[in-house]
Amino acid sequence: MPKINSLADYATKRFRLAGKAYLEGGDPFFAPTDSLRQEAEVRGQRFVSFANYDYLGLASHPSVNAAAAAALETFGVGALASRLVGGERSTHHHLEVALAEFLGTDSALTLVSGYLTNVTTISHILGSRDALFIDELSHNSIVSGAKSTVAETIVFRHNDLDHLDYLLRERRDNYRNALVVAEGLYSMDGDVADLVRLVQIKESHGAWLLIDEAHSIGVLGAEGRGLCEYVGVDPQQIDLIIGTLSKTLASCGGFVAGKAAVIEWLRYTLPGFVYSVGLSPVISAAAATALSLMQQETWRLERLRQNAELFMELAREAGLDTGPAIGRGVVPILFADSLETLAASSHLKSHGYYVPPIIQIGVPKDQPRLRFFLSAAHTEAEIRGVIELLAKRKSLQMEPAHSLSAAT
Ligand code: PMP
Repeated sequence: MPKINSLADYATKRFRLAGKAYLEGGDPFFAPTDSLRQEAEVRGQRFVSFANYDYLGLASHPSVNAAAAAALETFGVGALASRLVGGERSTHHHLEVALAEFLGTDSALTLVSGYLTNVTTISHILGSRDALFIDELSHNSIVSGAKSTVAETIVFRHNDLDHLDYLLRERRDNYRNALVVAEGLYSMDGDVADLVRLVQIKESHGAWLLIDEAHSIGVLGAEGRGLCEYVGVDPQQIDLIIGTLSKTLASCGGFVAGKAAVIEWLRYTLPGFVYSVGLSPVISAAAATALSLMQQETWRLERLRQNAELFMELAREAGLDTGPAIGRGVVPILFADSLETLAASSHLKSHGYYVPPIIQIGVPKDQPRLRFFLSAAHTEAEIRGVIELLAKRKSLQMEPAHSLSAAT
């Protein structure tokens, strides 16, 4: 009989395998950041932060805070029940109508987390004779949805739509309905799918298409409506648009949007909605205000675009590797290995910039990086400052060994 380990022993071993040794030189993670956006205060020291997805700088907007405070006063913190049976508040309806109108869909439904929204929607809508097609670099919430569905999951190469087209055709006899999932802006690489082609492919195969616009709302498109607007696709052609309230919309929670008949069905049957509490009224009021502000204060989107373009230009000039990023809200700087990534993060931190390393978790092990979330709230000096540090570090490393030793 194999020995049964205690859960604690098992956890210790698994954590070691997951790369715990990288923490030994000082833990760069879980640093408490008690102030907002680009001004992080980590353990009493102030930093310029590139670690928050507050793309339009709305997280500390006084109107967002005022809306939250007013909702708190009127409704309290919790929804206190599933919305279906007692947790419905007027702030929910108000936010969902505004989201649908903004996105150009018929309806929208909010849930308590963006992660949950992907898991429950993907697993709920497919049956055992259906198939799910996901990009190999899908966010973990999409992967968890795939693990929870009874449908067969088929993975296509990242943004390789020829591969997707081939797989949809090759498997045609094996599925009844097919759902294709892609992201509006990939959260680790900052690149996008060719949505125009994706729509053609899904239509030619009669498949359904879900686009996760978590990182593209407030970032892509002339008015920040996401990938559809960015590439000129009518959102009505997308079967399901998923998004979160935790990024541009300054709070937390998720939503799913689409045709009225689809959302109506989900409103009565989606497990993560029906069997979970309604979104906090405080959060729904705050998110609705953030949504309205982003439409009024259009300079924010323009500012984000300028900041991102400057960042890309300086990074290119410095020979830094930004991978496939298109140069909008998310831009990675790739490094040769995890130790070098940790060292670069710690170097930036010692100069007042907070950019945590992304190693082992969330990206392939051989593609460690510093992932920059750019914001309309960053200043030009901050962007120049952080790139200059990385550029200097890189040029020192590239100097031949004899000139380094001559300098010491
Ligand atoms: N989808 C994508 C693409 C994400 O990057 C994330 C999280 N960053 C989520 C969904 C989950 O959203 P949330 O953090 O709001 O739960």
